[in-house]
Amino acid sequence: MDKIDSKINNYLRKLPKVDEVLDNPSVKKYLESNPRELVVDGIRTGIEKARKLILSSKSIAEVESILNSIEEIVIQAVKKNCDYHLKPVINATGIVLHTNLGRAPLHPSAIERIKEVSIGYSNLEYELDTGKRGSRYSHVEELLKKLCGVESAFVVNNNASAVLLALNTFASGKEVIVSRGEMIEIGGSFRIPEIMKISGATLVEVGTTNKTHLKDYEDVISENTALILKVHPSNYRIVGFTKEVTLEELVDLGRKHNVPVMYDAGSGALLDFNQKGFKEEPAIQKAVKAGVDVITFSGDKLLGGPQAGIIVGRKEFVEKMKRNHLNRALRIDKLTLAALEATLRLYLEEDPWQTIPVLRMLSMPAEEVKKKARKLKKILKNEFGNRIEVELIATVARSGGGALPDIDIPSYGVALSVPGKSSVCIEQSLRHTDPPVIVLVQDEKIIMDARTLLDGEEKKIISALKQIVL
Ligand SMILES: *Cc1c(COP(=O)(O)O)cnc(C)c1O
Repeated sequence: MDKIDSKINNYLRKLPKVDEVLDNPSVKKYLESNPRELVVDGIRTGIEKARKLILSSKSIAEVESILNSIEEIVIQAVKKNCDYHLKPVINATGIVLHTNLGRAPLHPSAIERIKEVSIGYSNLEYELDTGKRGSRYSHVEELLKKLCGVESAFVVNNNASAVLLALNTFASGKEVIVSRGEMIEIGGSFRIPEIMKISGATLVEVGTTNKTHLKDYEDVISENTALILKVHPSNYRIVGFTKEVTLEELVDLGRKHNVPVMYDAGSGALLDFNQKGFKEEPAIQKAVKAGVDVITFSGDKLLGGPQAGIIVGRKEFVEKMKRNHLNRALRIDKLTLAALEATLRLYLEEDPWQTIPVLRMLSMPAEEVKKKARKLKKILKNEFGNRIEVELIATVARSGGGALPDIDIPSYGVALSVPGKSSVCIEQSLRHTDPPVIVLVQDEKIIMDARTLLDGEEKKIISALKQIVL
């Protein structure tokens, strides 16, 4: 060790200077398409990493090997520093509305509208007929009214905002009745009791976890009651000995006592999911028919659009929410409106089950997914031969995003392994390829579910795997 210690300064002096590295052709390439500052910071990070590695080395041979690979270390650091931070990934998990992976992929027409509307100016809040100030909500209002069969509609940043705004508008300083069976927490810290507190409303819990009766609601109604709230349980189900009060019954009760009824529908199914074998995901129109005063749901769950909170219902209630000053802090932006309008229009065209990416992925018959998986297996085999082992397997896909939680969607994919490499290690490496591929690991194998792969992603998977297998 002494021997290393005495020579270490000599070795550290051999580390390149930033300016020297900037002359390296492979680094210069990065200067063409990235801000110089990011390249220079990347170089510094790389050199610093090498310095630390040298200082913690145990032998001279190790130090020399670090110095030999200095170019690679620095280029890796430059690449990492120059990469966009928010970037596309391939979702091979089989979870369709993967919240961590951005939930719903958008239809190309939605992307087209975002581009059209945002590259220049737009009539976001400008009435072209009168030349006067207009409303940003007008762009999707008629579509939502038509699709949901309601008097009134508007949109905010996300469903959490919609619920907060509703509670604050109708019940600040007053009481809201909610069943104990619906005291939900959605991933990313949306919790009914907490959102209630922030809104200024007081939560009045009724019933038990598994059973709530109409009488439980009726017993606590008083002059302080401002709202009856029903919440879609989204990411869990209560099974067995259960009882919940229907929307129709709550609406009757509300009318009797002059208390409005709100439904947080969560995922926002606009089509009949029963038709495709997904029982128990009630369409929004059903809640409208039940006579609910205000319904809220997400734009980027089963609806298949951009992140948004959609509010539909009776005019006097929806208008009151629009006028709440809190709305200014929760308002929807123009890119979202552009994408939402395009997505909603797809519902008016032929077979949205085929056009809207989320609906297509969820409803694709297992046999069709099997074909996709077989194709993936084939091109992997052609490309990598016996450097990998790959087989077609049956998998279970999921909706995710707090929708259809107890439904196993029969699916297919490939199980892959690379002789001499651990699957955990490959899974990790695949998160750093270009593009990253997000996979599952089961029984020492990499699992890629074909259900969530979009058109053309097979080729990208090949190119990602090449970066770690060749
Ligand atoms: C998902 C969900 C929310 C939150 O919606 P975001 O759009 O993610 O803000 C609220 N309530 C229910 C019942 C949900 O399922």
